[in-house]
Amino acid sequence: MRVVRVVKYHQNLELSDAPEPEITSPLDVIVKIGAAGVCRTDIHILEGQWAEKSGVKLPYTIGHENAGWVHAKGDSVTGLEIGDKVILHPLVTCGLCRACRFGDDVHCENSLFPGINTDGGYAEFIKTGARSLIKLDEKLEPTDVAALADAGLTAYHVCAKAARVLRPGNFVVSIGAGGLGHIGIQVLKAISAATLIVVDRNKNALDLAKKLGADHVVLAGEGDEFVKEVLNLTGEQGAEAVVDFVAEGGSTATGVKMLRRAGNYYVVGYGENLNIPTIDIISTEINFIGNLVGSYNDLAELMVLAAQGKVTLHTSIYKLEDFQKAIDDLSAGKVRGRAILVP
Ligand SMILES: [Zn+2]
Ligand SMILES: [Zn+2]
Repeated sequence: MRVVRVVKYHQNLELSDAPEPEITSPLDVIVKIGAAGVCRTDIHILEGQWAEKSGVKLPYTIGHENAGWVHAKGDSVTGLEIGDKVILHPLVTCGLCRACRFGDDVHCENSLFPGINTDGGYAEFIKTGARSLIKLDEKLEPTDVAALADAGLTAYHVCAKAARVLRPGNFVVSIGAGGLGHIGIQVLKAISAATLIVVDRNKNALDLAKKLGADHVVLAGEGDEFVKEVLNLTGEQGAEAVVDFVAEGGSTATGVKMLRRAGNYYVVGYGENLNIPTIDIISTEINFIGNLVGSYNDLAELMVLAAQGKVTLHTSIYKLEDFQKAIDDLSAGKVRGRAILVP
């Protein structure tokens, strides 16, 4: 089959031929790829940023946002038939460790991460486990949802976590209305009655946020003026939750100023250090909460919202062999929505 592989770091991906994956354990499933999302993480992988963390041996096939059809399954796989349309939770998990038994797939002690530390979905077929597959509603196609397997899942995970403690009348601020943020806005509007304020530096992103249902949008400029505007919207009390999809360029320092006493600050983006005086943390009892991808159940719930038309994703489709153009377009910020490879 055709695969697109990392051959060396700091070098372009290469299209080559590889044997199709095979069933080697009774719960294995081989999925025929219908769509694989092209993600900024793929660019970071090529830059070698993940080399030490993943320990993956080169060459290997990347692509961690995958959807398609069940092609072959191990003897013990039940509830899935050949030809079923599926999305893949990004991790292959054991189901037996403590984290798995809590439904906390991301922290599985024996997991594989196809596309990161083993062969992924820039290919015609991928091997995963039965535990990782969610059957798609007949209205949904692999190209519609593949990119929700990572970016969408991360946005859902954090917004669902925030929504569990948000009450009607509360305020939630979303910092960023870009790739993850615009999914987060749709999720929050679908599952929370809290009033949603979206902050972004980009006017177009805010127009989109408004269209997607944001109650208020605030343009962030160079200074801290926008903080006053947000506080004003909350009756000078601050928001119960701030979801920071950016966490770069000083966003956490200004973000915290928009938080109410005992509020929750959800960190999703990364790139800067938290530099908050500890006396401010204890005197106001604010919380900082990290967020990493999402669980199987998070993805299953997100697929319900997708099937109901409450979360939609704009995609630009490329053929698998045009992978370089997709990566170049993503690097140059030329992709509208998310780039998807189709074999
Ligand atoms: Zn991704
Ligand atoms: Zn596990």
